[in-house]
Amino acid sequence: MRRPLVLFDLDNTLVNRRGTLAGWSAQFTSRHGLGDQEQAGLLGMVAERTYPSTFDAIRTRYGLLMPAEELWRSYCADIAAMVSCPGAVLDGLDELRAAGWRVGVATNGAVDIQWDKLRATGIVDHVDGAFVSEEADARKPEVRHFALAAARCGAALGDGGWMVGDNPVNDIGGGHLAGLRTVWVDNGRSWVQQAPDPDHTVPHARAAIDLLLRCTAVRARTAS
Ligand SMILES: [Mg+2]
Repeated sequence: MRRPLVLFDLDNTLVNRRGTLAGWSAQFTSRHGLGDQEQAGLLGMVAERTYPSTFDAIRTRYGLLMPAEELWRSYCADIAAMVSCPGAVLDGLDELRAAGWRVGVATNGAVDIQWDKLRATGIVDHVDGAFVSEEADARKPEVRHFALAAARCGAALGDGGWMVGDNPVNDIGGGHLAGLRTVWVDNGRSWVQQAPDPDHTVPHARAAIDLLLRCTAVRARTAS
């Protein structure tokens, strides 16, 4: 039987990016002698995406002396030191692979920081492959992003599969366009009605893993 594919988003799906950034911004403002008000503004600047150029803007806005490149390197190291993936999720990735799934990560972002996070959390040791959008300038929701992520796992989109993520447009809309079934990690939010709806909604990544493991059990019963 062909091994089914599942791709996971990274930020706010496998790892809590929002929580990590809150800790980082407190540390950064304290280190650079900035106040609480600056912390909120700083969080706003890194909330959606963070690239080396983000630190050009931060340096200018807060009058920092450290070169932007150094600020970026320090950001990558600090985030890698703070970010974690719950043990139950890492175990779940292993359980999926043991049950015959090909497991991958499909994430938008800069190569440095995303791979630093994949390595620091240990996720890289629990999946078959991972793809970061900047590696080939292919961002979700572009279908090419999912095709490249599938290829990293030795799979092809034509064989179908699943996409699990928290972003309605990038993960659910993009996954659907790529021909994948979708699981939305709601992180406590309500779905804002927009097409396409996810095939399933779960509160967190571990619940998505349990859902997929139940699918494996059904497939096995059907095949026997
Ligand atoms: Mg995400």
